[in-house]
Amino acid sequence: MSRAYNFCAGPAALPEPVLQRAREEMLDYQGTGMSVMEMSHRDDVIVHMAEKAERDLRDLLGISDDYAVLFLQGGASAQFSMVPLNLLGDAGKADYVNTGQWSTKAIQEARRFCEVNVAASSEDANFSYAPAQSEWRLSDDAAYVHYCPNETIGGLEFDFIPEVDKPLVADMSSTILSRPMDVNRFALIYAGAQKNIGPAGLTLVMVRKDLLGRAGPTVPAMLNYQIHADNGSMYNTPPTFAWYLAGLVFEWLKEQGGLQTMGEINGRKAAKLYDFIDGSDFYGNPVRPGQRSRMNVPFVLADSALDKAFLAEADAAGLRNLKGHRSVGGMRASIYNAVPEAAVDALIGFMSDFEKRKA
Ligand code: PMP
Repeated sequence: MSRAYNFCAGPAALPEPVLQRAREEMLDYQGTGMSVMEMSHRDDVIVHMAEKAERDLRDLLGISDDYAVLFLQGGASAQFSMVPLNLLGDAGKADYVNTGQWSTKAIQEARRFCEVNVAASSEDANFSYAPAQSEWRLSDDAAYVHYCPNETIGGLEFDFIPEVDKPLVADMSSTILSRPMDVNRFALIYAGAQKNIGPAGLTLVMVRKDLLGRAGPTVPAMLNYQIHADNGSMYNTPPTFAWYLAGLVFEWLKEQGGLQTMGEINGRKAAKLYDFIDGSDFYGNPVRPGQRSRMNVPFVLADSALDKAFLAEADAAGLRNLKGHRSVGGMRASIYNAVPEAAVDALIGFMSDFEKRKA
């Protein structure tokens, strides 16, 4: 069997040992004679599996008891509406920072429910930087402040955590678990699973417990954090298999040495790829240095007529899913936790060889 180097932005590569373990346990999970997929979510075995996954996640990120951890569905996109539905309370306004396509989507959705003050935006510069906090125009009467620390499409990453006196909400879909972070700086963090957590179909929400209970009476039960928190994320049937796989990923992360080690490896991976791109006139990256994503590395060829050949030859060399997002074109290498350093080395080797042949 040969596994490709997979640079997909999501659903993304999963750690091979996790897939192997899932295969070993597939037909008979812990002597039950059934797969995880075939068991009731009320079964003790599944409840235990779910609790262990939450404990491991709390250990990895240092999440205190002040926070509820919710295992939900609907993707990060459902959070674009669940955040305002649950946090607005009586307020009619929220502050958003616009740094790319995912921030923009969150803003569009929030506008259904409240007035959105766009406190800062880098749209004028094609989302190539994160506006300094000194430029943010926050409103006095906003219920919360929302931003996206890592824009998956633009490859833009904040190099600071905002200091605000309102609850800070972060869409961490493409940066969570990639290195240590201080959860206590945030009121609410959400992330779709299909990058650094597990397979698609699961969404993680970490929310400070004092913010629960603000949803109004018309908010559907399935969109109410309080109801999910009160029911251990089992108000309805949760995505048990995705939850199980996420649990295996958390165990794998702990075995690797936790987020400190992952952060070091990810830092090295990103640095060598950006160094290579910066050292070449053939490739380019438009994002402000210091704010380039360590997870999603977009790059363009100086001559876009070569894009097709680049992608076809990369694919033939076992380097998959390097095509940039359909909205921006070019290339993008997503180098999440499960993408090994050897994959980045192989990519750089290929890029260097391609340049020599085509420049
Ligand atoms: N936010 C970010 C930063 C993302 O990268 C994505 C997906 N790529 C989303 C939100 C939307 O996630 P989902 O498809 O899980 O709804």
